[in-house]
Amino acid sequence: MIDMDENDISFFKDGLRLDGRRTDQLRPIKIEVGVLARADGSCYIEMGGNKVIAAVYGPREVHPRHLQEVTRAIVRYRYNMASFSVEERKRPGPDRRSYELSKVSREALEPVILTSYFPRSVIDVFVEVLQADAGTRTAGINAAAVALVDAGIPMKSMISACAAGKVADTIVLDPMKEEDNFGQADLPIAMTPNGDITLLQMDGNLSPDEFHMAVEMAMKGARDIYEIQRRALVEKYSQLEAPTVEVKACE
Ligand code: ADP
Repeated sequence: MIDMDENDISFFKDGLRLDGRRTDQLRPIKIEVGVLARADGSCYIEMGGNKVIAAVYGPREVHPRHLQEVTRAIVRYRYNMASFSVEERKRPGPDRRSYELSKVSREALEPVILTSYFPRSVIDVFVEVLQADAGTRTAGINAAAVALVDAGIPMKSMISACAAGKVADTIVLDPMKEEDNFGQADLPIAMTPNGDITLLQMDGNLSPDEFHMAVEMAMKGARDIYEIQRRALVEKYSQLEAPTVEVKACE
């Protein structure tokens, strides 16, 4: 049981954060594309201490059938935290938090998916958190967006997600667990590379100026993450050999 509060923690030392980062610095990010053989698309992401895997299946037939939409595909998103992903064993199975995160994450991705191309079908996104260190919803969305591309799902644009927070009256990028749990605010966002925001949540209190600063900082973080997502996809697909096409001379 954690029995610390915000006053027990010194969040900064010599101007740097507990893990040595500047206030506007992301944690290290690693993205691997196409890690699951049986999924249509998949992605493994590490964002600091978060380890998350996303798997995409579809477009495929909808079960149960009454969920079918005649004009578009439906999108389902299941966020799940493994019981071993946190220090104190988490009770397995869905809970209020996972329902909320599944809903907001689906809503963060759905606007860019061209669902009208696949009427009466479903695109299923499964996100499994293997290790959690704050920012799992944003890590999940980043992995899911890459997995959707890997599955060949037509999308209007990419989605990248990042959070900003407030600790010891300072706005910081990409809070880690101690900063998230004992900080004053947490503000995750998801957006397209053009800056169209598809998710914006806020936990805690921020003044209007702090709010704007946090949004700006999170958007800058999301732009940097977009570059990493893009590079991971280019790396995967540039390794594939181009299909050989036989061209016959016209007779
Ligand atoms: P996010 O992971 O998107 O930041 P929260 O703000 O709800 O979502 O959670 C922050 C962090 O708190 C998680 O990443 C995880 O490290 C920790 N956490 C969340 N739920 C639990 C839980 N049931 N048991 C232990 N730690 C948890």
